[in-house]
Amino acid sequence: MKRTFLIFVYGCQMNAYDGDRLRGAMKDMGWSESDDVMDSDVVIFVTCSIREKAEQKVMSELGRFRPLWEKNRRPFVALLGCMAQRTGLDVAKKFPWVRVIAGPRSLGLVPMSIASALAGGGPFICLDSPTELDDLSCAPARANNGHKAYITITHGCDQFCSYCIVPYVRGRFGSRAPGEILNEARRLVEAGAVELTLLGQNVNSYGKDFAASKKNYSFANLLSDVASINGLKRLRFTTSHPVDFTDDILDVMVSHRGICPGINLPVQAGSDKVLKEMNRKYTKAQYVDTVNKIRASLPELGLTTDLIVGFPGETDEEFEQSLKLIEETRFDLVHSAAYSPREGTPAAKRTDQVPPPERARRLALVNETQSRVSAEINEALVGRSFEVLLDEAAPKGEGLLQGRTITDKVVLVKANPAMAGTVREARITGSSPWCLDGELL
Ligand code: SF4
Repeated sequence: MKRTFLIFVYGCQMNAYDGDRLRGAMKDMGWSESDDVMDSDVVIFVTCSIREKAEQKVMSELGRFRPLWEKNRRPFVALLGCMAQRTGLDVAKKFPWVRVIAGPRSLGLVPMSIASALAGGGPFICLDSPTELDDLSCAPARANNGHKAYITITHGCDQFCSYCIVPYVRGRFGSRAPGEILNEARRLVEAGAVELTLLGQNVNSYGKDFAASKKNYSFANLLSDVASINGLKRLRFTTSHPVDFTDDILDVMVSHRGICPGINLPVQAGSDKVLKEMNRKYTKAQYVDTVNKIRASLPELGLTTDLIVGFPGETDEEFEQSLKLIEETRFDLVHSAAYSPREGTPAAKRTDQVPPPERARRLALVNETQSRVSAEINEALVGRSFEVLLDEAAPKGEGLLQGRTITDKVVLVKANPAMAGTVREARITGSSPWCLDGELL
């Protein structure tokens, strides 16, 4: 009997990676992937809890299944990932068509639970323990777009930033075994990947938990070993934590040309008081020192950051310090967000919440400031030439392919789609705050 599934992935690249692996595991069990809800036996949501809006969107999607379920008892839904861990019990009560619920550390239980739910069982509710991991044993079968692929190297996070839900839904920090990661990387390169991205909530901490077992293998060791795989052209990693960005990581980046000097180093705020209340464990001056050190070693650097505005108690003056940091540090891009209270975190309990309209005002100011800085940085690149890994058709513009420089700048060029996956030299002919126009040389 033909059994069909459809997957929707929300949130971060780690979810995309989990979605890819689950897709592979389902196909290995004889399921076919569908692109239509009406044609599916199960619709799988891999979800995110970082912001309230992301959860509201999925809640509203879940509600849409009611008429179908009441009429046909088909399709049923599997709710996975951070939101499943956080809200799973409520969801199970509210939406009887959600027959499988599993947190991000319980993905290994999902394929069999889905098969049992199809046979009429359930609901199967697999909420995570913060320390156990029941992972899918399979790796993605191939690079996600033929030539680029992700590999998760750590699970969970022990930083407990006061606004963040991740440690509560993804559990304690843990590193995957080096051999497992290297085997997966080699398989992906053999299957055609030319660029790999190592993923984790805090990749720089990789290996710190090996100390207990007396293994001495750090993130720098892993970077060096993956970068040395024959056939791999580019290696990226995300996300970094400023306190763990140590000199040995920089040394390895300098000595391996294939490790891209494109770094996302989340700062989150420009005020020392706010940073302390966020439990970020560094001051603005320490952050700036780290950036200066990285720039001294990697002059051709693409630097991006994450920034939250309207954290509880953030005054106008403290917010101004975030704007000043943007002006002074001149990031290539800022992933900005208005603070979103997440139930269960210390910051959400505070009584000095910044009103939402003020958060929105500050967000608009950050975006306006960063847009000007990005425009200036990109304009200065016009006339220069860069190696670009051509990627896929640009979302807009006929005959345009989009690619990325080693510093992670998006470049749009006129090119034959067959060139996707190759590295070409392009001259920059125009710019905007968010991307560059180029011509192949
Ligand atoms: S480092 Fe902080 S913000 Fe990042 S996942 Fe961990 S707790 Fe959340």
